[in-house]
Amino acid sequence: MRPLKEFLHEMPKAELHVHLEGCITAEILLPLEASRGEPANPEAFQELYRFKDFYGFLEAYGEVCRRIRRPEDFRTVAGMVLVSLARQKVRYVEMLFTPAVFFRLGLDVDEVFHSIFDAAEQARKSWDIRCSLILDNVRQWKPSFAEKTLDWALKFRPWVVGIGMGGDENGRRAKEYESIFREARAQGLRTVAHAGEIGGPRSIWDALEYLSAERIGHGVTALEDPVLVKHLLRHRITLDVSPTSNVRTGVVPSLARHPLPRLLEAGLAVTINSDDPAFFQTSLSEEYWNLSEQFHFPAERIVQLARQAFDSSFLADEEKAVLLKEFDQYVQMKNPGSKDS
Ligand SMILES: [Zn+2]
Repeated sequence: MRPLKEFLHEMPKAELHVHLEGCITAEILLPLEASRGEPANPEAFQELYRFKDFYGFLEAYGEVCRRIRRPEDFRTVAGMVLVSLARQKVRYVEMLFTPAVFFRLGLDVDEVFHSIFDAAEQARKSWDIRCSLILDNVRQWKPSFAEKTLDWALKFRPWVVGIGMGGDENGRRAKEYESIFREARAQGLRTVAHAGEIGGPRSIWDALEYLSAERIGHGVTALEDPVLVKHLLRHRITLDVSPTSNVRTGVVPSLARHPLPRLLEAGLAVTINSDDPAFFQTSLSEEYWNLSEQFHFPAERIVQLARQAFDSSFLADEEKAVLLKEFDQYVQMKNPGSKDS
């Protein structure tokens, strides 16, 4: 492995925008189906992950979720996902998860949560990776589902640290969820929202105004509005950017034309994420390597972005300080500048 690639792979990481459901690969699904005594069809599974645009992606995503049929399946799913993250030296993950999907599919959601927490506890003991959940909402669904989601979030603290908004950005207006997100903040939960991905700057403004979003998922259209950029800078709102995701869903035509370098030039706080690695055939390590390979960022700049992920996380200050110390020690010890190739 090239020195910088190895450095990035071994670098302690935090990931702030990755969906548990979006990490479910065919390799995870196939044994699950087999354990239910259902005939395996690997080719049909691979087909699931081929889609052409954002709406095709949402459809594929729904189909993968429908194949999780038992609450206890989540113990296997979350366990395998956390191992994969731990192998990439992810030390802390704020994992998005959408319980309303499985509620609508008729699963016992409390049991689903307990299965995930069991897996997270095990992962912490075995691989020293820490996982918090952010419960995501589906923008095209009625706000009553978001109310239920808030109840689950409050019930399952401290595993759950916040709520989010996802789904079709052109679905319902953020304003319809305003009171739910306000209540979440009043109760001490943190808030994030997907915005400025397929929607323009107006959608980011809405996420800030009505959902009190503390971090924006994607936000890649922010630069179209200089007033918004100033606002994001003034209020130190982080954009959780997922470059490969944006290419695979057709939000940007290629990595070469991704606005990431310009977002950084504008001084915005940005973190790098994998979003739905199973669907986008990527990983967090791969995303960091792309910064060198595709964006030609120097090692120091990549290190800065990786550090930002710990900084922008919802960890308590003292926990953040411990992980940042570990991160800084790693960087100092390995000195990537001298090994850049
Ligand atoms: Zn996402």
